[in-house]
Amino acid sequence: MGLFGKKQIFDSTKEDTAPHVFRMEGKTISCSHCGNLHFVQKAILLNTTGMTFFSLDWANRTAATLSCTQCGQILWFLQQPEVVAE
Ligand SMILES: [Zn+2]
Repeated sequence: MGLFGKKQIFDSTKEDTAPHVFRMEGKTISCSHCGNLHFVQKAILLNTTGMTFFSLDWANRTAATLSCTQCGQILWFLQQPEVVAE
């Protein structure tokens, strides 16, 4: 591709809506449905009722979701996937 240059996501507080190729545990992530390698990443807050009750939503964990740019399937990860430089 090379469309997106050498852009890296190091600051997780910034929303990055550009598609990237990602890697987890040394393995490139591909869509289990269509085989596409390009995903858009989003951080999702995992709310638990206990933490919400005590107004401690900030203490909840976040998950990373990767949305397939081709078919739209969403993959969930509890760890931050690594962006593969293209
Ligand atoms: Zn897909």
